Amino acid sequence: MGAGGVEPVRRLALVLGDQLDRDSKVFDGLDRERDAVLMIESRHEATFVPQHKQRLMLFFSAMRHFRDELRERGHRVLYSELDGRSNLGALGEEVPRWLRKTRAQTLVVSEPGDYRVRAELRGALRGEDARLEIVQDEHFLCSQDAFSEFADDRKGLRLETFYRWMRRRHGVLVDGEGRPEGERWNYDGENRETFGAEGPPEIKAPRSFRWDDVTREVAALVDREFPDHPGSTRGFDWPVTTKQANAALRDFVEHRLRDFGPYQDAMVDGHPYLYHSRLSASLKLHLLHPRRAIERAVAAYEDGAAPIHSVEGFVRQILGWREFVRGVYWREMPDYADRNALAADRPMPAFMWTGETEMRCVGASIEQLLEFGYAHHIQRLMVLGLFALLLGVEPRAVNAWHLALYVDAIDWVSAPNVLGMSQYADGGLFASKPYCGSGAYINRMSDYCGRCRFDPKKSTGTDACPFTTLYWDFLSRNRNRLRNNPRMALQYRNLDKKSRSERRAVRRAADCLKESCSEAAGP
Ligand SMILES: Cc1cc2nc3c(=O)[nH]c(=O)nc-3n(C[C@H](O)[C@H](O)[C@H](O)COP(=O)(O)OP(=O)(O)OC[C@H]3O[C@@H](n4cnc5c(N)ncnc54)[C@H](O)[C@@H]3O)c2cc1C
Ligand code: SF4
Repeated sequence: MGAGGVEPVRRLALVLGDQLDRDSKVFDGLDRERDAVLMIESRHEATFVPQHKQRLMLFFSAMRHFRDELRERGHRVLYSELDGRSNLGALGEEVPRWLRKTRAQTLVVSEPGDYRVRAELRGALRGEDARLEIVQDEHFLCSQDAFSEFADDRKGLRLETFYRWMRRRHGVLVDGEGRPEGERWNYDGENRETFGAEGPPEIKAPRSFRWDDVTREVAALVDREFPDHPGSTRGFDWPVTTKQANAALRDFVEHRLRDFGPYQDAMVDGHPYLYHSRLSASLKLHLLHPRRAIERAVAAYEDGAAPIHSVEGFVRQILGWREFVRGVYWREMPDYADRNALAADRPMPAFMWTGETEMRCVGASIEQLLEFGYAHHIQRLMVLGLFALLLGVEPRAVNAWHLALYVDAIDWVSAPNVLGMSQYADGGLFASKPYCGSGAYINRMSDYCGRCRFDPKKSTGTDACPFTTLYWDFLSRNRNRLRNNPRMALQYRNLDKKSRSERRAVRRAADCLKESCSEAAGP
């Protein structure tokens, strides 16, 4: 027996909560008699930011289901359940305890999705007898080495170049000569439809998943241990097994993929998903393999069940963006996390945690975020992220808020999307300009403004739209940093058309807004 009454093991395979992959390389060569799998529900991981209750449920329920599946497959699984007293330390403290208990000679782990966790594990093994073996995470279609191969000789990192390179490399939607299917690489121009005054048609809601005993147990645990965390366990219906994730994919391909492309950017009050796939959480936890999602979508195109502009749009998100941001993350960390090119220094306003605001676009997006742990891409980028950008919230605070509230947020995907794409904190490493816009954009792409007390066209006055006020203020405030960016030229020409007194009035209105947003709070 090892210390603490545990049978000694030779190789300990650590499976983290976002690595629930049956075919992971950590299982390669694992001897079912002499080796074991280790899974830990860590309180520290659950609380380093105050995570949404459904996010905690998702991780714990999916981990417990995966544990049961591994045991059915004959693996010996050492599983440490979170309860009131245990697992208080960070993984870097918990793992060495298990190494000592089991007297393991090797700890094998798939590449963690968070730089912090990888550094903690490396640090933790330093004083131990066991050695650390990090194996490649095959749930990505571009390894870190392959990304370097792409990026090393290039001046700038651009999604479009990477995406074409990936399409050719993986033979997705290209012919034998490497030419794009449909003769175009990109159908973005056709993918900006809105629903107009009549609103969206009947859209089949994504398939939902009933709770079983494991999920019920986990809901009780989360309610008991994390009562003050945002959101509610009620209404949780995320896939928690590979079987469910595959069912969610089939449901999406059958019912929503066809219209995914044109309406990707549209927003409608009370319709959180529209034609979006809602697959990000399953992909992040490795319940669903990206290759499978791509193959299913391409098969729908080949069968004539979905048009090229929708299928190409979906493939671009998964084969393009998902792989691209991961490559950027590992290339740029650790200092990426601290970048702040626009010197933004304000706290996250309290209403970003509660949704208690008169701005309907923000209120609706946060209400849905609290209810489901989900907002779609444009709500993230052009409503919530945009508000933080225009207000000048400190980027690390935006990323921490994001990691807390979204079920699908893991650092490798959150950091580049939040710090890079949404907050321009990296100074344009891969976004050629900040995604900044006024209330006019939100008015064009959604029905929020019609339900709001503010007027998206106004930048001053009692009914001025805060986005519009802050937009002009953002341009003025960052003039020295952004003026020479050719892609900002039109925006600055428009700013320059405003008279001095107009600009002074905007600044006063923006100062008032900032003052009213300065009360930082969180759970
Ligand atoms: C500020 C901001 C923060 C984001 N944070 C996250 C995050 O923490 N986790 C996350 O999974 N996605 C994140 N995204 C990307 C994207 O918004 C979500 O993947 C998507 O909204 C999830 O919903 P869906 O599954 O219905 O996606 P769909 O719209 O149906 O897209 C299909 C899939 O493409 C992938 N995808 C699309 N865009 C991106 C992207 N930019 N980066 C990586 N993958 C992408 C996702 O796996 C997604 O499931 C963020 C985007 C922004 C602008
Ligand atoms: S008017 Fe402004 S604050 Fe209101 S919903 Fe439109 S963009 Fe949002």
